[in-house]
Amino acid sequence: MVLDELKNELEKELKGINSEKELKALEKKYLGKKSKIAQILSCLKDMDIKQRIKMGKEINEFKKKTEALIKKKSLDIGGFDRKDGGGIDVTVPGKNFLKGHLHPITLVTREAEEIFSKLGFEIAQGPEIEDEKHNFDHLNIPQDHPARDMWDTFWLKKKGLLLRTHTSPVQIRYMEKNNPPLRIIAPGRCFRYEATDASHEINFYHLEGLMVDKNVSASNFKAIIRKFFEEFFKKQIKLRIRPSYFPFTEPSFEVDIQCMICKGKGCSACSQRGWIEMAGAGMVHPNVFKAVKLNPNDWQGFAFGMGLDRLTMMKYKIDDIRMFFKNDLRFLEQFS
Ligand SMILES: [Zn+2]
Repeated sequence: MVLDELKNELEKELKGINSEKELKALEKKYLGKKSKIAQILSCLKDMDIKQRIKMGKEINEFKKKTEALIKKKSLDIGGFDRKDGGGIDVTVPGKNFLKGHLHPITLVTREAEEIFSKLGFEIAQGPEIEDEKHNFDHLNIPQDHPARDMWDTFWLKKKGLLLRTHTSPVQIRYMEKNNPPLRIIAPGRCFRYEATDASHEINFYHLEGLMVDKNVSASNFKAIIRKFFEEFFKKQIKLRIRPSYFPFTEPSFEVDIQCMICKGKGCSACSQRGWIEMAGAGMVHPNVFKAVKLNPNDWQGFAFGMGLDRLTMMKYKIDDIRMFFKNDLRFLEQFS
């Protein structure tokens, strides 16, 4: 075959090629306008018909084979498939992916969890769909007790089920399965059927705490909650405890901290009171212990609850709770 020699020559030359530039020169040499193939093609017209057909076929095969060999070599030396018109240019700077970040309430929840963990508290979880027994009855809020009106509830179609109004039922669930001594916190999402305004949402976050032992007192609570607030706000705080009422604790109290903005003088952030209400608390009611089959003469403890939304608002000086659920990036991106 006339082209055999040319084919051998091409294969030999291909072996010595190491760059795309050399490869292009080689392609030009074998397939270009001034190549041997082009010369043979120009002579075709002078050949007789039989020869012309045979030669034409050989030339076509040679061209195809050459193109395939060049393409393979190109890929071998890290070039690109020129038929596609381009490939990956590894020298172009990369694009940054858009990264999300944690919501301010998540940041605060994690921080609270960390502080309480250091104080020996375990993190407990419970369901967001609760039953009446755990959300109310076992917490000493009987069916017809007026105290039940303190919680505006979303009831579900299935009788006795509701969206939990606080994470206090986690206390009950935990004590049903675990014996004291115990220390837990239960952070989580809660729901109440109420009108929304700057400080109320139908969906909010609550952190419940419980410590039960043989000899736990209100002064233990005071020390722990003070430690928590000081770690959380990273400064010394003034704390005040005053009497209150909750069905599941007796005695019950409210925990206030002195307004950090006006230092107790009175300002708009504290409604001129100088103090800000941060948590509700008290000593576990004997009926709560009885509901989980613990003897109230053997055990005592304190429980407390606070709004994680409010804690977040205090920490970052946010004046409207509804901002948390608006998905407004101008607000959220400040926490990235
Ligand atoms: Zn103030």
